[in-house]
Amino acid sequence: MTEASCIFCKIVTGDISSDLIAETTNLIAFKDIAPLSKVHLLVIPKKHYRDVAELSASNPAQLSELMSLAIKLAGEYTNGSFKLQFNTGAEAGQTIFHAHAHVLSENPKDGS
Ligand code: AMP
Ligand code: ZN
Repeated sequence: MTEASCIFCKIVTGDISSDLIAETTNLIAFKDIAPLSKVHLLVIPKKHYRDVAELSASNPAQLSELMSLAIKLAGEYTNGSFKLQFNTGAEAGQTIFHAHAHVLSENPKDGS
């Protein structure tokens, strides 16, 4: 399922390019276009869910997959110190209404 006006659905289909770093059957991960910290990755389901609450309610197994991939990538890109963040709702700062995890860290693996 894709939504015509959704930027992240367009990244999934390749209609908008991204700095892709991982892909699985159900998920993709890419670098945030406007990083808020030294490491800033986004992990998203290929299928459109408006936020993590809808993903959790509709497909908890896929939320678990998403968390596992986010933590795996955090292990590859950071020294082990990182934050996982799901902005949920406009008042919480969500601007793209396609579920996504932010992986944020000031401690990249290579120390730079
Ligand atoms: P949120 O505010 O939680 O909805 O997060 C949306 C994130 O998507 C922001 O950190 C944006 O910088 C990021 N973003 C928006 N457009 C793109 C894009 N085309 N490629 C990569 N990241 C994007
Ligand atoms: Zn979408």
